[in-house]
Amino acid sequence: MPDRPDSAPEPLVRLERVVKRYRLGATLVQALAGVDLTLPAGRVTAFVGPSGSGKSTLLHVIGGMDRADEGEVFVAGEVLHRLSPAKLTAFRRHKVGFVFQAFNLIPNLTALENVILPAEFAGMPSREARARAVELLERVGLGGRLRHRPGELSGGEQQRVAIARALINRPALVLADEPTGNLDTRTGAAIVDLLAGLAGEETVLVATHDERIARVADRIVYLADGRLVNEEAAAGARG
Ligand code: ADP
Repeated sequence: MPDRPDSAPEPLVRLERVVKRYRLGATLVQALAGVDLTLPAGRVTAFVGPSGSGKSTLLHVIGGMDRADEGEVFVAGEVLHRLSPAKLTAFRRHKVGFVFQAFNLIPNLTALENVILPAEFAGMPSREARARAVELLERVGLGGRLRHRPGELSGGEQQRVAIARALINRPALVLADEPTGNLDTRTGAAIVDLLAGLAGEETVLVATHDERIARVADRIVYLADGRLVNEEAAAGARG
């Protein structure tokens, strides 16, 4: 029986003709210059392109940290370009996990407390939040570091904490902006493996210069001057 068009699953991310401009003094920078993009759930997608090509802006628009100036943005069942500021905040809190180049952990909290924090903001019962945080820290290989503070952890360990934190609220998608940018080669490789291991269960979007991330991604999307220039299934693709 042929699929009816209205029974086709909605992709997790769908962008239509998205434009984003920034004003810098007298000049207007077109960070995204008409992006069409469709991504399914449960995949790792790498956004690759030179510095300034619009990778971060694209992640920000998809994650509801920035609004498109033109076009339509559908993410995880929400129509982002129509959401009120309050609803956009709720979307970020409940549906998106962020991993940053600089880790962005809170220095005076333990690894466990850092992972629990977004769950508290989202109203998860504290016993559940704690149990889930422990489970996630074990999953990223830090079961023995629950009470360490960020300053007592290596860079790679801090980024593992950040990945556990990004997953605590069971986000529909995880956005990672240059997650290996502050790590040495070996430590970065371990983070790449960890991100690759999330595929299938989580949807991960990574902006990166790191060829290794691009290699383990299911899909590589190349950007230049705010446009998608090429898209290909990567070696790590699971179909
Ligand atoms: P990438 O992540 O690929 O390095 P970005 O998305 O950060 O690229 O930037 C795309 C373009 O938009 C660049 O020209 C950058 O200078 C500009 N841009 C990004 N953010 C801002 C901002 N907040 N204000 C002004 N210009 C910005």
